[in-house]
Amino acid sequence: MKYIKKILTIEKVKVRDIAKKFDTPTYCYSYNQLKKNINDFKKNFESFSPLICFAIKSNTNVNLIREIKKFGLGADVVSIGELMMALKAGINPKKIVFSGVGKTSKEIAYAIDKKILLINAESKSEIKEIDRIAKNKKKKVQIGIRLNPNTDANTLSQISTGKKENKFGVNEKTFLELVNYCMGSKNISLKCLSVHIGSQILDHKPYEKMLNVIDKIIVKTKHNFEFIDLGGGMGISYGDNNRKLNYTKYNIAIKKFLKKHSTKIIFEPGRSIVGNIGFLISKVIYIKENDEKDFVILDAAMNDLMRPALYGANHKTLTSIKTNRKSKKTYEFVGPICESTDKFASLKNFQKLKEKDIIVMCDVGAYGMSLSSNYNVRPKPAELLIEESKIRIIKKRQKHKDLM
Ligand code: PLP
Repeated sequence: MKYIKKILTIEKVKVRDIAKKFDTPTYCYSYNQLKKNINDFKKNFESFSPLICFAIKSNTNVNLIREIKKFGLGADVVSIGELMMALKAGINPKKIVFSGVGKTSKEIAYAIDKKILLINAESKSEIKEIDRIAKNKKKKVQIGIRLNPNTDANTLSQISTGKKENKFGVNEKTFLELVNYCMGSKNISLKCLSVHIGSQILDHKPYEKMLNVIDKIIVKTKHNFEFIDLGGGMGISYGDNNRKLNYTKYNIAIKKFLKKHSTKIIFEPGRSIVGNIGFLISKVIYIKENDEKDFVILDAAMNDLMRPALYGANHKTLTSIKTNRKSKKTYEFVGPICESTDKFASLKNFQKLKEKDIIVMCDVGAYGMSLSSNYNVRPKPAELLIEESKIRIIKKRQKHKDLM
């Protein structure tokens, strides 16, 4: 996305034309950015050709997942619904891993029937349940055990998952016990050690620490893990600061690890694959003047894009046409929902706006639409996939009648 002669464009399509033709709020994804992200990701780790399982939770649009599948990616799922979605998109079950702390018996049975690559278990009770169901079905099931490496990912506390106070995975002591349990089971084949320490990680050092913890624990188990699943979490640059994870250093750390352990690496990236491909196009309904700041009331709200309300996340905010006129007052961009947290950004020196102007929030491809809801009986936005000047509707806008 860039300004061409002051007109904002996604690939070769003008944002204002999208708003006119498809109405607002609308999610748009750039196909060429998706392709670049996947190719860059593969290139970063090409020396050991990992299995890349796209984290479906970051974007659950079946048509987008279909495109991702064409690049050979598998899927990381965390519910039966996500598993069904990955299969519907045509992802090979042998490239699907199932994570999550609370898989129900029904979910486990379904995953076994679909013969997915791995169920990454997160507790002793879950492993016993997998064992029980597998025995009933007279099957041997491939599993991983998720380790909680007690590693601080240096990210927002709400998206940190690898510290001992977090609910995810099991600690070292339990991990060692569970390896022994699996060795004694006829219905379980322990194939993988998995971890995922958090999301939006910008510093490679937590990953290095995590690898050290895994290295030591593998030595203690004396077990030969066919797979080590390192999870996702690779951070991207939001806003203008241009900070992102140093892949070269992460790659070096993994290669060092692989010199000691012969295993296949799995990754579960979400945000780094789809984060920066997405844009939310909205329209200014009203500008409400106030003492210190003016409220810019958009037709997009927290139900469409939850990240700012949920984590205080910032998304770069742009106009569809650039002018040089600046507002003297701070603009607070808000939605129409009856919650004070329905607020996207508070920006000084922003371009002077008027009602009906088009506003774009950037980098919303991950955890944008997938976290959206129908709060306030608001239908969900349409989703478009843009490639050069081609626009494809990959999900229709919901209608009120769909919600009644
Ligand atoms: N794997 C697991 C188990 C997760 O919980 C998550 C996100 O929370 C991911 C992968 C994807 O993380 P990200 O989108 O930061 O790459």
